[in-house]
Amino acid sequence: LGQLAQAAPAQLVQWMAEVQPLVGLGHLPQYVPELAQVNPETLALAVQPAQAKLIGLGDVSCRFSLMSLMKPFLLLFVLEEQGADIVFDRVGMLPSDQSFHSLKQLAADRGHPRNPMLNSGALSLVELLPGRNGTERCRVFCQWLQQKSGIALTVDQTMLASVRELPNDTNRALAQMLKNAGSISSMAKALDTYNQICCLAVTVSALAQLGLLLAVRQDCIQRRSQRIVNALMLTSGVYEVSGEWALRMGLPIKSGVSGGILAIVPGEGTIALYSPAIDDAGNSVAGACLLEKIIQNFDLSLF
Ligand code: GLU
Repeated sequence: LGQLAQAAPAQLVQWMAEVQPLVGLGHLPQYVPELAQVNPETLALAVQPAQAKLIGLGDVSCRFSLMSLMKPFLLLFVLEEQGADIVFDRVGMLPSDQSFHSLKQLAADRGHPRNPMLNSGALSLVELLPGRNGTERCRVFCQWLQQKSGIALTVDQTMLASVRELPNDTNRALAQMLKNAGSISSMAKALDTYNQICCLAVTVSALAQLGLLLAVRQDCIQRRSQRIVNALMLTSGVYEVSGEWALRMGLPIKSGVSGGILAIVPGEGTIALYSPAIDDAGNSVAGACLLEKIIQNFDLSLF
């Protein structure tokens, strides 16, 4: 095992103190009222080595919605349950230099989502979940995750109500384009499933533990599925700056506009961070800086 297993709380505490001046810098997403109201002055870190105890530091009791952090797990589910051919019939595997809900990108791709880490890609993949409606599909997804990882997730109903009431809902426009292109069959069901799964709540510790499904060999997950999800996280996991992060960080990473970040250290474990203020691309400012420190000090880049 590499250096993540040697992570000592004292070092991590010091690096957290070093990024403290950045906590709160950036902005809270204004397009979801409930996300705009959280306390920006929080920072939490969980380091989960594959074969050692989780280290949790900072505001570890803070719960936040997965938002885009659900995308690698949705992809993993559909790869495992339906296979890569069906998945890549619905979505592409190319990176995008546009934002996560870019209508322009989907139009350029003629309604065929460019990759599963974009909202359009996830909206298309939720149709592969079994169930008659969003609630049933979300339940199936949660049961699967719990069975594979032992982590039980529930929907944050306040967040869900907030997301459902968005006046200028870009996701609705994306779903309409997907429907027009014949990429999805029911707009309402796709949107409701997508919203419910985005609003599943986690702590950094739960997120780090979920990440183990992607980080280490599992009896219950195929290696091929892990490789596909990790490759897409590396090339597309942090929005339009994914290429830059591949150089800076050199790991499969996914972020969400709620301020969470999950980094996969293949074969070694995971690192999860939470600090809600994000930059223009949608990535947590303090979280990114702390993650970079950890990666550099432990020399975790794959390259
Ligand atoms: N639910 C959010 C949205 O669709 C997720 C976006 C994100 O985390 O990147 O806008």
